[in-house]
Amino acid sequence: MKVLVTGGMGYIGSHTCIQLLEAGMTPVIFDNLYNSKVSVNERIQRVTGQSVEFVEGDIRNKALLVDTMKRHNIDSVIHFAGLKAVGESVAKPLEYFDNNVSGTLVLVDAMRDAGVTSLVFSSSATVYGDPASVPITEDFPTSATNPYGRSKLMVEECLTDFHAANPQWSITLLRYFNPVGSHPSGDLGEDPQGIPNNLMPFVSQVAVGRREFLSVFGDDYPTPDGTGVRDYIHVMDLADGHIAALNKVGQQAGLHIFNLGTGNGSSVLDMVKAFEQASGKTVAYKIAPRRPGDIAECWADSSKAETILQWKATRSLQQMCEDTWHWQSENPKGYPE
Ligand code: NAD
Ligand code: UDP
Repeated sequence: MKVLVTGGMGYIGSHTCIQLLEAGMTPVIFDNLYNSKVSVNERIQRVTGQSVEFVEGDIRNKALLVDTMKRHNIDSVIHFAGLKAVGESVAKPLEYFDNNVSGTLVLVDAMRDAGVTSLVFSSSATVYGDPASVPITEDFPTSATNPYGRSKLMVEECLTDFHAANPQWSITLLRYFNPVGSHPSGDLGEDPQGIPNNLMPFVSQVAVGRREFLSVFGDDYPTPDGTGVRDYIHVMDLADGHIAALNKVGQQAGLHIFNLGTGNGSSVLDMVKAFEQASGKTVAYKIAPRRPGDIAECWADSSKAETILQWKATRSLQQMCEDTWHWQSENPKGYPE
């Protein structure tokens, strides 16, 4: 199976390419390198012993997409490409709608022209807004609390309408919870540019000495220790979820929606403790005010994916922290240019 992986040089895309190769599939990466480096591909090769075709391009370039899909006889598309920083999306909503929403529409239009009718889309638990209860099942109501979340929700809605008109397509919406961790080799990992927005990259940069302390955003939430609770999932488990989706429903007409999470909630302080244990380093932190727009707690009911995709997250919190530390300590400045 040949799979076009948009955003394949990025954090989740690169780990998924490795698992595609391990599963005997052939990824072709399509990425504009806006938030990634071309050296990622050398790391994929180092880990798998296989080279991956890379096309440098923007998903808003329809002609290049059609040409790439035809030239490589693509069977399915996994669509990771997009912008993902919540705070930035508030300041630059147009850029987010252009990249994430218009970009996806161009991609689907290009797929139609190239005769490719199987799509897996990277959605997010953010589409559940502030959920009324936990754990969250796929039929919970959706809403958006910021432009990034709205862009994911809009894409889900556009793809739902598109599927209603084109029921022979296979369209899978994967709603990720909180991806963390890295490839166990330590050769690949998350490499945010500038100050990390997400918890675990920040924690690991404090541990490695790049930042002085972590600001814990709020300790007065209605949670066991007062800090925010999330469903952290190892990026390798998440990557495997994409392979399961391709294998089980990727050739099956339908609109398929799955949560990809572990079903367990961990607080910010749980994560700090687990990371300290895995790294042997102290993670200095200070309690800071709540971050606007944050919710108290969020974790998945992933039983639908378990039943239909026969997929389940298996890697522990300890493993997530050990692998993050392996990557961070061996690559303190991230990927080379
Ligand atoms: P990432 O930034 O590491 O990877 C995205 C990749 O897409 C980058 O390599 C970037 O260069 C590329 N890209 C961006 N805009 C592009 C464009 N217009 N044309 C071509 N390439 C483009 O992000 P990630 O963490 O790997 O996330 C991948 C997907 O998963 C995103 O759609 C994101 O919204 C979604 N997601 C991520 C998380 C998370 O916490 N990381 C959670 C839920 C959903
Ligand atoms: N968080 C924090 N300090 C940081 C970054 C995040 O305390 O520097 C908290 C945040 O308030 C939330 C949890 O860590 O409770 C996960 O945040 P992240 O941004 O990684 O994911 P999301 O908010 O999208 O679930």
